[in-house]
Parts: sequence; structure tokens; C-alpha cells
Amino acid sequence: MSAVGGFDELAKKFQALEARVAELERHLAGRSTSGTCPVCQAGALKVMATKPDPLLGVLGPQQQVLKCENWACGHTELRQHQLPTGR
Ligand SMILES: [Zn+2]
Repeated sequence: MSAVGGFDELAKKFQALEARVAELERHLAGRSTSGTCPVCQAGALKVMATKPDPLLGVLGPQQQVLKCENWACGHTELRQHQLPTGR
């Protein structure tokens, strides 16, 4: 019987899946920093500026000014960015 041949085919499929997962993970890692624009769902949000919290200053969470890279959209938003604590 050609059980070995079947295993080879499975191994090839598994390798192809592994490559696909690695590619997706790279894709997700690239996006995790800012994300996609919630308005147009097309442009990526880019951090244009960061500033300290208006109430707590440098002790509070940082504020990020995000701007959509889609020029036709131009959406901007403020987002709180919690800095990792601990020194
Ligand atoms: Zn947008």
C-alpha cells in the first residue's frame, strides 16, 4: 500500500499551511501598532503625534493622535495609549 506516499502529501500540505500561518502572523504584527480606520475600513491609521494626558500629564496614559492614511477619508482620532508600567 502507498501509505508512505499519502504521508508525504500530508507533510507537504502541512508545510504549506505553516508558511501561510507565518505569513498571516507577520501581517497581523504589522497591523497591531495602529489598526485600520474605523470610518472607511480601508486606510491604515498612522500615529501622527503623541502627547501626555491632559489631566494626569506624564503620569497618565499617553494620548495618540491617529490619522487615516486614506487621503479621501482624512479621519483623525485621539486614542489613549497605556504605557507599560514598571521601572
Ligand atoms: Zn479612513
